[in-house]
Amino acid sequence: MATIVDDHFMVCPDCLMIIANDDATGLDHFLDEESAAAREREVRHSIAAAKRDGNTLVVGDSEQDEDLSTASCDCCNTTLAGSRHHCVLMG
Ligand SMILES: [Zn+2]
Repeated sequence: MATIVDDHFMVCPDCLMIIANDDATGLDHFLDEESAAAREREVRHSIAAAKRDGNTLVVGDSEQDEDLSTASCDCCNTTLAGSRHHCVLMG
């Protein structure tokens, strides 16, 4: 049976994009190709770390999103100001 490991796992838009759609193409809009590739590796590495022990990461309740936050992303730990999106880490 699935159990909730963290029901308030707040992630930045970069992480959300890959968690939700496994798509990092949006990174190119803000970064040059080389930086986007480096950022994608960082985010994918962070997601893989969150999913260790067989956990799954799912997009949560958008009503719990924050429009502007400087709290660190629970996934990649960026403190870049921006939106944070609610996800749930399931065990
Ligand atoms: Zn992040």
